[in-house]
Amino acid sequence: MGLPRLILLGIIIGLGVWAWRRFNSRHSAVENQPSAKTMVRCAQCHVHTPSDRALQKGQHWYCCNQHLAQGPKARD
Ligand SMILES: [Zn+2]
Repeated sequence: MGLPRLILLGIIIGLGVWAWRRFNSRHSAVENQPSAKTMVRCAQCHVHTPSDRALQKGQHWYCCNQHLAQGPKARD
């Protein structure tokens, strides 16, 4: 009498764990993507560039190698 219920309970728990892991893996995959859409500002010309295409030097971002070489624009 008790064994079929135990098996059924095991199947329900197994499905629950499987669904939870599936949801978690999908959630973390979505969290890893936004970095590609993050826009950063060039410290030289102030043009906004996607972070995956921009060049970083220290705390500053640059749109191209020329501006990277010139460094951050001096403020008056
Ligand atoms: Zn620039």
